Order: sequence, then structure tokens, then C-alpha cells
Amino acid sequence: MKLALAGIGKIALDQHVPALSASRDWELAATVSRHGTVEGVEAFTEIEAMLDTRPDIEAVSLCLPPVPRFEVAKAVLRAGRHLMLEKPAGATLAEVHRLQAMADAAGVTIYATWHSRMAEGVAAAKAWLADRKIHEGRITWREDVRKWHPGQDWIFEAGGMGVFDPGINALSILTEILPMPVHLTAARLAVPGNRQAPIAAELTLTGGIAADFDFRQEGPQTWDMEFATDAGTMALRMGGNVLEIDGARREGADSIMGEYPALYARMAELVRNGESEVDLRPMVLVADAFTLGRRETVEAFEF
Ligand code: NAP
Repeated sequence: MKLALAGIGKIALDQHVPALSASRDWELAATVSRHGTVEGVEAFTEIEAMLDTRPDIEAVSLCLPPVPRFEVAKAVLRAGRHLMLEKPAGATLAEVHRLQAMADAAGVTIYATWHSRMAEGVAAAKAWLADRKIHEGRITWREDVRKWHPGQDWIFEAGGMGVFDPGINALSILTEILPMPVHLTAARLAVPGNRQAPIAAELTLTGGIAADFDFRQEGPQTWDMEFATDAGTMALRMGGNVLEIDGARREGADSIMGEYPALYARMAELVRNGESEVDLRPMVLVADAFTLGRRETVEAFEF
């Protein structure tokens, strides 16, 4: 099946293009981006031009930041093409509900991806937690924004989500593996004086779960989740890729390289089965943190 990739920036080039090159299901047939291109692939700068010129392209995968994504997503669905969305699926929940309704009405697939759910340890962690009672859960997601999002000013704009851009990956794993529903009860957001979105956040959730997100971590990076249960401890490290049970490593890989091939395989499966997948629970937790969170102004941030 032929697919176009829109928004040729860091994640498109780091992960989507290699995953598509290796895919047996998909051929990268066009790109849509104002500046970015992929060598050897037909390049467009406007989505409408691509959709008009290439009726043979069945699906479009969007890697734009969340705020400009909605208009492009609507154009894709209006043209009757299948739609795959990078995380988070939109800038607001209402946008994604509208896209979902449009896709259903048009009879096409919409897939709101969560790449971290495809990490190596996630399925086994979910199975291990299924029949256990969780006493406490601790998420520590601390990374260096200058390393992972160099010069991406959009991330600190309204709608860019700030530290929730990586933090929502942890929440996507959490909502996948927990045997019970959770909701947010309190949050603290640290917002640089010259920015709109938080650079750090602390969340308190029901079920004894707490999260610590920080974009200011230099040196070793931390993407860990630790759970104490009535029958032992479990940890997911390396963004869900390494699983530890009672302190001993069970399985996993030290990189995220398997996540994007798994997303494209899932997209192919959804299209073939005429199905969609949109789970907005991670976005609900982030929206509630913005609704309920106490804000404190911290030191100005420049890339
Ligand atoms: P990025 O490097 O800034 O790339 C996004 C691309 O979107 C830009 O290169 C730009 O390409 C295009 N674009 C269109 N309208 C834009 C606008 N108003 N502002 C900025 N860019 C605009 O961002 P990214 O890191 O690839 O992230 C894109 C999405 O992927 C985000 O939702 C992010 O959460 C997700 N993601 C990122 C990572 C990561 O490690 N960076 C990992 C997983 C998921 P043109 O100028 O060519 O149009």
C-alpha cells in the first residue's frame, strides 16, 4: 500500500522513514513538508496538492507538531484516505473526537499511535500486572530537551505540551498496562518565565501513582516506571523497553528501534480489517494536569 508522510522533521527522518523502508506492507510514495524532503521520494509542500495529484496514495501519516496537525488531518479524511497520527493525536481532545467522527463517516481508518506502547517490555508488564494489586507506582521521565528537541520552539508554545510531550509517552504505557482505571488528582507545573508550556511537572494519580517529568536532565537520561504490588516489584526502564521483575531483568532491548516498525504493521492490520484505533486516555491525563495543576514560574529557558 502506498503512503505519504507529512511533516518531515526529526521523528519522520529518525524513525518513520527507516521503518517504512523496512516495511513489507507500505511504500513511502510521497512527502508533504514546507522544507523537509526524503531523497528519491516525490515531494509536495501542500497537502491538497498531494491529495489531488496522487489518488493512488491510500494512507497519510502525520508527523507535524500537534497544533498545525488538525487542518492537515481534516484534508486527508475529506479526501477519503486512511490517517495515521504521531502522538499526541491532536492539540486538544475535541479535535481528535472530530477526526474520529469524520473517519467513521468516511469509512476509513484512523490510528492515533502511541509509539511507547510498542516498546519491548510493555506487553509482558501488562500481563504481569493483570492479576496483582498495585500498592504504589512511580514514574520518572527526565530527559534533556536540547538533545531530543533541538531548537523546537513549538514545544514550549501553547499546545506544544512542554515536558508532557515526552511525559505522555509514560502515560501511554501506564494506561496500557494498569489493571484498573486511574485519574489525576493533583499536579504541579513548572513553567519558564519566557514560555507557555511547562519544563517540568509532578503528577499525583489515583491508585498510589506519582509521576515526575523533567526536561532539564543532563547526563544520563531516565525513562523509568516502578511498581510495588502485593506479589513483588516490577520496573520498566528505557522507556518501556526493559522489564525487571523483583530487580532481575526479564526481557527487553536497549533501544526504541522496534517501536515504529510495529506501529506501521499495526496500521496495515487496521486498514486491512477496516478498523480504527483511538485511545485518548493519555491525553485526558495531560489535559487534566493543565486544568487542575498549580503553576509556578521558573527560570527562563533558551535552546
Ligand atoms: P520537528 O522536528 O519540529 O518536525 C516537525 C515538522 O513539521 C517540521 O520539520 C516542519 O516541517 C513541520 N511543520 C509544519 N508546521 C509546523 C509548525 N507550525 N511548526 C513547526 N513545524 C511545522 O518535530 P518532531 O520532533 O519530528 O515532532 C513531531 C511530532 O512527533 C510531535 O508530535 C512529537 O511529539 C512527535 N514525536 C517526536 C519525537 C522526538 O524524539 N523528536 C519522538 C516521538 C514522537 P516543514 O518546515 O518542512 O514543514
